[in-house]
Amino acid sequence: MIDNECIVKVGNEVLRRIAEKVQLPISKNDLNIGKRMLKYLKMSQDEKLSKKYNLRSGVGLAAPQIGISKRIFAVYINDGEEILQFVVFNPEIVAESVQMVFLGGNGEGCLSVPNKYGRVLRHKKVKIRGTWYDPIEKNTIDSVKTFIDYPSIVVQHEYDHLNGVLFTDKITNNFVGAEEIS
Ligand code: ZN
Repeated sequence: MIDNECIVKVGNEVLRRIAEKVQLPISKNDLNIGKRMLKYLKMSQDEKLSKKYNLRSGVGLAAPQIGISKRIFAVYINDGEEILQFVVFNPEIVAESVQMVFLGGNGEGCLSVPNKYGRVLRHKKVKIRGTWYDPIEKNTIDSVKTFIDYPSIVVQHEYDHLNGVLFTDKITNNFVGAEEIS
């Protein structure tokens, strides 16, 4: 099980590496990495389990954050109505909107950067090509998916982890023309 101890924190060089592509078809081992990350996210958002295991709540987790330098990340977003959950292997941003957005409030946070938050400009919309694992259908499919607003912010944050970039590298005060997302 992944717990807070397993999550690599800022200062560890693995967070600054360009992660390696995974081989296709997805191996059992790589699929398991993705499933474990997804499980962490899901448990971290469960009130009882997060308390029991002392998990910091997160909506996205990239493999370098558990010390594995591979191009894999997981997302679990529950907006109260719908749950967006997947693992993506070898994601590639193939299109991005000109319109920019930023997460309001304290801004973004990161499981690898304790006690730090900040506002970051992101594209309102991105299209990502990759190999997607759907935990409901239990299948992996090569396709292009589109993300808008909050999910778009999350996937761009996770995508950055695969390229050794942290949100703290991008914190800004200039939001001219950008839309605030709550
Ligand atoms: Zn992060």
